[in-house]
Amino acid sequence: MAGPKMTFSCFSDIPHLVHGVFFRRGGVSRPPFDSLNVGFSTGDDPAAVSENRNRILSWLRMPRAVFLHQVHGSEVLVLPRDETIDPDRFWAPGHPATGTALTADAVVTDQTGLALVIQVADCQGVMLADPHKHVIANVHSGWRGSVANIIGRCVDIMIGRFGCDPQQILAGISPSLGPCCAEFIHYKQEIPQNLWQYKHPEKAVFDFWALSVDQLLAKGLILDHISGMNLCTRCRPDLFFSFRKEKTTGRFACAIGLLG
Ligand SMILES: [Zn+2]
Repeated sequence: MAGPKMTFSCFSDIPHLVHGVFFRRGGVSRPPFDSLNVGFSTGDDPAAVSENRNRILSWLRMPRAVFLHQVHGSEVLVLPRDETIDPDRFWAPGHPATGTALTADAVVTDQTGLALVIQVADCQGVMLADPHKHVIANVHSGWRGSVANIIGRCVDIMIGRFGCDPQQILAGISPSLGPCCAEFIHYKQEIPQNLWQYKHPEKAVFDFWALSVDQLLAKGLILDHISGMNLCTRCRPDLFFSFRKEKTTGRFACAIGLLG
């Protein structure tokens, strides 16, 4: 696994699309945020986080990005090409918008030159792209997002607002807490009963990867269009940040964008 990022094979043939799940290495943050931490709310040095974000934009060849203020909710931010947005809400090298990030847990756009970045450390980053409509999305789905089906809400917006055909939408699911480590000892209070089918028969661990695939299939995506990296963040703290493993840690970046 050389280089700064992993990529999904399903996205590799789409012209003008760039994306990646960035490893924790290749940045400037010091332990315990070593080293490519893109999250400001972690306790890391803001100057280091800024440099790390700029590196990611440079690797993606993107002039600017959206780094959401993620709140484990189910709001989907829609950024259509023809809508003007205050440039202060975007991240650009030399123009860091640290205090005015947009609050949402998913974002959809048909704009070029704008990277959509989800910050994770055990939650799933789920990237979506309709190569025919030139629409992309990125979703932050932790267990609360899984329960709220924010993935399904985001696909609905791609269909309803942008005219996407779900059979054309490609999806990639980032490394996150795997079925080996997604333990919820209070699951009877936290996870609704209709999702207990994703629980291990004996242990209180859940397969949220399988749930995400099912949420995508339920919206009409084709199974062959869905890719998972099947890497557990808690099992691989050498590659990724894991909140469950390390508590005080960074956030790694899942990013997708359309080149102009
Ligand atoms: Zn694991």
